[in-house]
Amino acid sequence: MIICDLHTHTKFSFDGAPDATPDALCRRALETGVSHLAITDHCDINGEVEGIYTPYAADEAWEAMAAAKEKYTGRLHLSLGIELGNAHQYPAEAAAVLKKHPYEFVIGSLHNLTSVPDFCMLRYDMMTEAHVHSLFNRMLDETLEMLSFDGLHTLGHLTYIHRYVTLAKKPFDFKHHYDKITAVYQKLIRRDIALELNVSTLWKGLGIAMPTLELLKLYKDQGGRLITVGSDAHSPENVGKCIRKGYALLQTAGFSEVMVMEGGQHAMVSII
Ligand SMILES: [Zn+2]
Ligand SMILES: [Zn+2]
Repeated sequence: MIICDLHTHTKFSFDGAPDATPDALCRRALETGVSHLAITDHCDINGEVEGIYTPYAADEAWEAMAAAKEKYTGRLHLSLGIELGNAHQYPAEAAAVLKKHPYEFVIGSLHNLTSVPDFCMLRYDMMTEAHVHSLFNRMLDETLEMLSFDGLHTLGHLTYIHRYVTLAKKPFDFKHHYDKITAVYQKLIRRDIALELNVSTLWKGLGIAMPTLELLKLYKDQGGRLITVGSDAHSPENVGKCIRKGYALLQTAGFSEVMVMEGGQHAMVSII
């Protein structure tokens, strides 16, 4: 079975482990049977522009990724990527980031609503159910906006907020949002952008994937075909973790292939 992990972070992410060099991630990928790896360090454009996060050291990260790519040629399909956060909030600046280097794989993620802290910072245990649904609805609105940005290959963790709602032990019924989720899926399909299945919540023991099986099935029903899978590892030991579990979910939802990037182009590989 071909194992693809297209969402990983190195020490060049503000929250990456100090030992997470691109080289260390590649070594771990080979040890665990990952054949396609993408390194996708954080660049949340709002955090960069507003001076909230440590700036992404794009040149240094690129150099280290490129050196790893050369070293592991013939043994590992390594995509030199980036997780570009909140691109719609500063589209010109976000486009300039993508022009700095010929990124082979770009994850578009929404980590926070405009002028609101990261979803991980909010106190869901203190919120009413209606409040959580209202935030989720706003998240979908901004996701739709973000998908107009050019240059994205996949949409990262569509249901990011669900990770924290689950941690706060709050139930969440996606059925209230089917219409808008369907609109997101239709826009992905129209724009040839994949949907990411992020399995970090599986290896963290939350018992859910982002998105859930229910929403993977909805994507399939809508005619969705392009799916990428990522561990969202922030340290070498988590590279490739739970990718097989993700594949099992995808098969249950009716998918038999996932998308990878080869030579700058989409390619599909079997997960059966
Ligand atoms: Zn993310
Ligand atoms: Zn990430």
